[in-house]
Amino acid sequence: LTSKRATIEQHQKSLPVFNCRQRILKELELNDTVLIMSETGSGKTTQIPQFLLHAGYAKNGMIGITQPRRVAAITVARRVAQELAGGIGDTVGYTVRFEDVTSKRTKIRFLTDGVLLRESIKDRLLLKYSAIILDEAHERTVNADLLFGIVKEAQKERRRQKLGSLKVVVTSATMDIDHFGKYFNCRGMYLEGRTYPVRVMHAKEKQEDYVHSVLVTLFHIHRTTPRNHDVLIFLTGQEEIEALAHQIRQLAKVDLAGSTDLRVYTLYAQLSQAKQLECFAPTPANIRKVILATNIAETSITIPGIRCVIDCGFVKEKSFNSADGLDVLKSVRISQAQAWQRTGRAGRDSAGTCYRAYTKEEMESFPEATQPEILRTNPTAMVLQLLALDIDCNNFDFLDAPSEEGLRSAYKSLDALGAIKIGSVSHITPLGRQMVQYPLDPKYSKLLLTASTFGCMEEILSLVSVLSSDHVFISNSDKNEMASLAHAKFQSKHGDHLTLLNVFNAFLKTEKPKVWCHDNYLNLRSLTYARNVRRQLTEISTGMDLALNSSDDIEMLKKCILNGFFENIAVLQRDGFYVTVSGNIRAKIHPSSVLHGKYKPNYIIFTEIVQTEQTFLRQVSEISIEWIKEIVPFVKNIPTR
Ligand code: ADP
Ligand code: MG
Repeated sequence: LTSKRATIEQHQKSLPVFNCRQRILKELELNDTVLIMSETGSGKTTQIPQFLLHAGYAKNGMIGITQPRRVAAITVARRVAQELAGGIGDTVGYTVRFEDVTSKRTKIRFLTDGVLLRESIKDRLLLKYSAIILDEAHERTVNADLLFGIVKEAQKERRRQKLGSLKVVVTSATMDIDHFGKYFNCRGMYLEGRTYPVRVMHAKEKQEDYVHSVLVTLFHIHRTTPRNHDVLIFLTGQEEIEALAHQIRQLAKVDLAGSTDLRVYTLYAQLSQAKQLECFAPTPANIRKVILATNIAETSITIPGIRCVIDCGFVKEKSFNSADGLDVLKSVRISQAQAWQRTGRAGRDSAGTCYRAYTKEEMESFPEATQPEILRTNPTAMVLQLLALDIDCNNFDFLDAPSEEGLRSAYKSLDALGAIKIGSVSHITPLGRQMVQYPLDPKYSKLLLTASTFGCMEEILSLVSVLSSDHVFISNSDKNEMASLAHAKFQSKHGDHLTLLNVFNAFLKTEKPKVWCHDNYLNLRSLTYARNVRRQLTEISTGMDLALNSSDDIEMLKKCILNGFFENIAVLQRDGFYVTVSGNIRAKIHPSSVLHGKYKPNYIIFTEIVQTEQTFLRQVSEISIEWIKEIVPFVKNIPTR
């Protein structure tokens, strides 16, 4: 045990932040807010909370550390608990959406920025906390941006009411110190990082198929470098990652003497916690670790042992066009700053190499810095959150304010949903107050709240849960026929929503979920995640005294969906395309839909738009014009055929 202790101490002392401990504490003693900037892996997230704990900051409240993602909150909390030689949930705990692992004894609490934001609705002065570390500020998520303003206001108010100061540490890997410094009215501290040189290799010519190019590069690395050089590959999303992981595993078997010298791990948001943690475990020196990750691995978590990075150059982003009011999920080019962050992952423990699946010229055309999320996503949920805090967006102290056009369309949507009343002073309605209880997009909250009055709460709880977990169906290319056969028995002619509901209901009934999912080509992880989400949403619903009623009336179910998703109606055109009611977007039904290809309904409702080379509507159900007139008579401008 003592040797374990010694190893931990040695590790802590080796981190760049260790030498700055006194400086950081001194700054914090003199100021309420401190900005700290240093490279990823220098120990900000794991060490600074411990500095504050040992300096006595947790005497009159907790030390809260926000993370943009749940994976980071969980892995880092576990790591810190381990360093402090305690169990998770004891001195160190975490709270993420749908999961709370803390106790009365918890002093250091990792939480996603979304969770802290929701807490602030009940406790605007954040009185539970004596210090808050707003970590990974460079990610500039909407939630983080809102927290900047809320924390600033809480500091001011606590000072005014003499309630004990709230210390705030803002940390970042790449930060515009001037911008933050002006906003928080404080100085920034640069901490010298320690990284090793990374050799950068660009693609010589433009790659048509970056996944293929990544694959070729990986096997080149595998053939030419020692086995203990682990590889981190940046890709865009779950589907792409799982498909490539499968392909690598197959090839490793064929290509080489046994697959044991290459072990493939995946890392993305929807993955279960246990699976996410697997990639942190070291592999034996004669086995190469290959991790396929989304931009989760870009800055917020550090995996030891990485010597090579392969960067596909894309990231999947939700973006929003205020003209049409719809969120679109699409892959876009990363920024140059992101490219360098990804490159840096190869130089943490020793010198490394970064292979870029794009040319030097291409990179020059990438945007220089990543645009803050608040400037490119749908502000609807944000506007509602702020109104729940009695804050009108027009009076909020934004670090960067979203566009007026976007805000106007958000107010309009919320008004149509019945969540707010627009007036000279806009305010949240009782329904809106109920809506913010759910950690969901307002459309989904509305759906749940309508369901109990429609008498189909159980079904909608299931539907919303399964929709919040991506990719339930597995369809690997070589299994396609078998998979289609297995999936056919869940199909509903009414559309994807009823189909998903059939899958989820069957999953909830099965006694052997693992075998059952395997036999039916379904994603056990996604369905397990959905089950957890359902449990949490049920708890919130019963907390609001909503009736947990059930109905098998399919028409009613679809009318209920219409109540939340009336902005997502699309109408069939003569040429086979659909046109959306909001924004007039021309799109086709996604090939994965049960309504793809066959008979085309005149009116559909969809829950997602995906943009690749073409625009697709995913998760669609048939509806009728009569229902639209009955349920959402205020929806106008319905395109004609
Ligand atoms: P920063 O926040 O500055 O990016 P971290 O505090 O996250 O840095 O990480 C500091 C170091 O701690 C990393 O370089 C890594 O060596 C180690 N570390 C962090 N998390 C883990 C983990 N879950 N398992 C093993 N080592 C970890
Ligand atoms: Mg960090």
